[in-house]
Amino acid sequence: MASPVAIAAQVGKLLRGRALRPPLLAVRSQAGHLTPRRWLNLQEYQSKKLMSEHGVRVQRFFVANTAKEALEAAKRLNAKEIVLKAQILAGGRGKGVFNSGLKGGVHLTKDPKVVGQLAQQMIGYNLTTKQTPKEGVKVNKVMVAEALDISRETYLAILMDRSYNGPVIVGSPQGGVDIEEVAASNPELIFKEQIDIFEGIKDSQAQRMAENLGFRGLLKNQAADQIKKLYHLFLKIDATQVEVNPFGETPEGQVVCFDAKINFDDNAEFRQKDIFAMDDKSENEPIENEAARYDLKYIGLDGNIACFVNGAGLAMATCDIIFLNGGKPANFLDLGGGVKESQVYQAFKLLTSDPKVEAILVNIFGGIVNCAIIANGITKACQELELKVPLVVRLEGTNVQEAQRILKSSGLPITPAVDLEDAAKKAVASVAKK
Ligand code: GDP
Ligand code: MN
Repeated sequence: MASPVAIAAQVGKLLRGRALRPPLLAVRSQAGHLTPRRWLNLQEYQSKKLMSEHGVRVQRFFVANTAKEALEAAKRLNAKEIVLKAQILAGGRGKGVFNSGLKGGVHLTKDPKVVGQLAQQMIGYNLTTKQTPKEGVKVNKVMVAEALDISRETYLAILMDRSYNGPVIVGSPQGGVDIEEVAASNPELIFKEQIDIFEGIKDSQAQRMAENLGFRGLLKNQAADQIKKLYHLFLKIDATQVEVNPFGETPEGQVVCFDAKINFDDNAEFRQKDIFAMDDKSENEPIENEAARYDLKYIGLDGNIACFVNGAGLAMATCDIIFLNGGKPANFLDLGGGVKESQVYQAFKLLTSDPKVEAILVNIFGGIVNCAIIANGITKACQELELKVPLVVRLEGTNVQEAQRILKSSGLPITPAVDLEDAAKKAVASVAKK
């Protein structure tokens, strides 16, 4: 059974798109306020390409799809030392483990041949880290970069923060490590700079953050300059988050972004076509991609009650209440806002294509969504798909009376529920009976 933590990670994925690399706890707790749209999340090498195009300092690198290409890349780099990094959309790679037996998704070596050998044990294998599902995520590409010595690792992120109604720069002199642990054990080591989006970042703010991160002397100006460039990048590309961990310094006196993760605002897709064209869906489950085709978000879990909900917050609540009543969710399908009947049909098709599913719980709150459309979609889907599993439906909100009338007059064996608790109880009971 998935632990509540694993479930939270999955729901986090639902809330924040495929983002498996959560930034600060404070940010994660705000996810509940976000509209549950899927957020584009790029691989490290893609993020670094954008960064270098905007004057942000990253190491020289190549991307490889095979061990042979990795070896070639290592030779071509002609560097004193090379760092080889598995490309997955999850953090904690350094401490991760491959199902090939190889330990560590980030390796340093001076020998290009070793790069080839290590890449052989990375590409095509699953890498499991603290931020991935248990079975890990398949590695399709590796990044081969010039390694630099690091004398100090700090943390830097820029993100849209609703509690400030705008961008905030978050930094800590304690970088490289799990920043959530720092936030919990040493909150005084987390620094924030709120940016007025109309005025932009002020020199004094960049300098103060550089100072707080512990950069001194000439390094301080350099760090401040990098912070400003990162902020300009953040705005220009419509990012919701740019996270650099470690934001490090080298013994030679350079400030370098050693790791990078960028999330984007899906609402800006129309003006960021080049970036969205880089979207790599290969880490998605096929069913997630199928769901995305119909503007639905699907998250697979390992129980037996399928959940059909609207909104990530309601998804989380539904998950919790199923657990509280002794059941286990099999998946989530999030319908989002402007719903069409055809989407409801597709949603049911996807939900019931999962052989684990022994019951379906519909939990829809009609705000923007019109419950009657949902009810029509449900009855149509039940008839056409000849639904075999028990179906518990809880609808609330806009046009709910009409919706209930539609469901009732359909003559279908649908179990109505009055509220969330009632719905969860009935769904759990319907599975237990079997
Ligand atoms: P993550 O584990 O997924 O966050 O991957 P990172 O890119 O942050 O790499 C993990 C760790 O490897 C970093 O915190 C660094 O300590 C180390 N590392 C990464 N790149 C280099 C490099 O070029 N030189 C050195 N010396 N260490 C590196
Ligand atoms: Mn990192």
